[in-house]
Amino acid sequence: MLEVDALSCGYGRTPVLHDVTLTVAEGEIVTLLGPNGAGKTTLLRAISGLLRPSSGRIRFADREIAGVAAEKLVRRGLVHVPEGRRLFAGLSVRDNLRVGGWSTRHTDLDQVLTLFPRLAERLPQTAGTLSGGEQQMCAIARGLMSRPRLIMIDELSLGLAPLVVDEILARLPEIAATGTAVLLVEQDVDAALSISHRGYVLETGAMVLSGTADHLRADRRVQDAYFRKGA
Ligand code: ATP
Repeated sequence: MLEVDALSCGYGRTPVLHDVTLTVAEGEIVTLLGPNGAGKTTLLRAISGLLRPSSGRIRFADREIAGVAAEKLVRRGLVHVPEGRRLFAGLSVRDNLRVGGWSTRHTDLDQVLTLFPRLAERLPQTAGTLSGGEQQMCAIARGLMSRPRLIMIDELSLGLAPLVVDEILARLPEIAATGTAVLLVEQDVDAALSISHRGYVLETGAMVLSGTADHLRADRRVQDAYFRKGA
């Protein structure tokens, strides 16, 4: 579904990513781990067409997409839920969801409301007045409205209580079961790996470790660096 090969990318003359390789298969959940500033957001931006790579290849659904504009990629089935959610705060939940379906003309709300029933109770509510957890549900649901083949979610747990994070993460296997692949950037490493098939560790712009979720959970370096202390 997604193949990133020897990708290098940066901002202006400042390089950030060096020779990064990553794959995500159909229906797979993959977590990208790494310390602050490692380049995780930069990698998602490059994949979703917001940044032009300086070298390397990105293939999505058997087509080369490096440098293709973000709005085109949404139509081809690649969706990015950015850090901080970026909802239209003054619009209702219903209208935020409608916007998500516009580019592909999908207007079927039922599937996303089945996934996040809390949103069904709040369709007329202004998105800016939702709780943090509900806003994250709304942002993911908005992304799913275009029925993507791959959804990338940056910092899902940012500012949310662990119980809410677990509630949202528990939905990801249901999304993957429909064939939609999920690429997740997550600080809550333990929770993220518990629902992932595989993971990668990015440090200072380079991939330093990858493997199955079980392999990474058992890895001493991952445990020391990323697991919640005392967990
Ligand atoms: P975090 O977990 O803190 O969000 P991250 O792994 O997502 O970190 P990035 O946000 O990708 O890291 O940042 C990687 C590097 O790129 C950092 O050194 C950052 O300062 C730099 N960077 C990010 N955005 C820009 C920008 N718009 N212009 C210049 N440099 C940037």
